[in-house]
Amino acid sequence: MSTVHLFDVAPLRPPFGGEVPTQALVIVDDERVTVVDAGFPAAVFADPSMIGFEARFLRLPDRPDSALVNRLASIGVGPDQVGDIVLTHLHSEHAAGVCDFPEATVHVSATELAVATGSSLRARVSYRTRFFDHGPRWSPHDGDLDWLGVPGCTEVLDGIVLVPLPGHTAGHCGVAVRLDDGTWLLHTGDASYADPRSGTPAAFPLGFYERFTAADRAAQRHTLATLARLAARDDVHLMSSHRIPMRLPLTLRPPVKEHDR
Ligand SMILES: [Zn+2]
Repeated sequence: MSTVHLFDVAPLRPPFGGEVPTQALVIVDDERVTVVDAGFPAAVFADPSMIGFEARFLRLPDRPDSALVNRLASIGVGPDQVGDIVLTHLHSEHAAGVCDFPEATVHVSATELAVATGSSLRARVSYRTRFFDHGPRWSPHDGDLDWLGVPGCTEVLDGIVLVPLPGHTAGHCGVAVRLDDGTWLLHTGDASYADPRSGTPAAFPLGFYERFTAADRAAQRHTLATLARLAARDDVHLMSSHRIPMRLPLTLRPPVKEHDR
């Protein structure tokens, strides 16, 4: 049986926006520990200037316990036990934390990796590649699996699927985790903060952030339609990076069957 923990690994305080979490999943089973999104590394909480101009509007609080490496310590997991990190995309508050796990394999969309490490103006503005200077063990993916009607997916590990949901960035993905009851938890990253069923936009500042930072608006609209379709299914649970601040840490367990009660 696997246990899925949900942690806020990069609390943010955007101007006029209150506090916004950046949520990561930690999947622990008998054989492995897998992480979905990595937040900021511990060093950034000590020195936010490491993330450059973003520090001015992300305004992270002095809370080093939030760093993924410290969140893992709170559940008795050391950094060398993390075999794989699966990233929704490479924006700093989702990906910079990989530098605390130099031995882990880092799964990411091949498109996202190419854009983020390229020389375009967007790459220089949007990504902080200094956190990759140690040479992560990248595992770039450009899959051809159909997952619940979404093309181009890759099952990167047993029961963990990288699901292209582009728009926010060119190679942005969701990460689907198969739970023990056979349903899926889909971490939708920054794909959208709108209500997935109705499409109603999120309130400020997330709604503004969603529109302002989109790399491809047409792809983002298509992704919204995909999320609406998935949200209507009984076997898919959606969550996003910065919305739905749940009680932390959250442990998801399979539901108790009627005849077991
Ligand atoms: Zn982002």
